[in-house]
Amino acid sequence: MSRDCAEFQNCIADLQLRNKSILDITTKLSEQNARVNRAVAKSVTRCGCISIDATKQVFSDDKTLHENKELLKTHIQGGLCPTCQEKVEEEIGDMLFYIASLCEALNLDMQDIVEQKIKELKTLGIFNLL
Ligand SMILES: [Zn+2]
Repeated sequence: MSRDCAEFQNCIADLQLRNKSILDITTKLSEQNARVNRAVAKSVTRCGCISIDATKQVFSDDKTLHENKELLKTHIQGGLCPTCQEKVEEEIGDMLFYIASLCEALNLDMQDIVEQKIKELKTLGIFNLL
């Protein structure tokens, strides 16, 4: 398995000077989550490259899990333009920075967490989504 998460966390450990306090990290992580959501919202309301057409998600008991999966929607119409994609990716990257910072501050191994989650998802499969 790729060791990208470990390399990413090591990079942050070497560079982190500001926001080293767990209080700064957790509050910045919350703030960054809002920035990701804001970037997506601005793609709808300011740019218009995507729109949201949301309706109730209907999960049918008479269909298979795979059939239901195909019928469930993201509610997104269109696709991110290059400008919005760049902004959303930037904000998600910053969120990953704070997640890695949180792991570093708590002496957790981000790579182990990702590998454990992948194993869990593969074991539980589609039932993980219910
Ligand atoms: Zn756009």
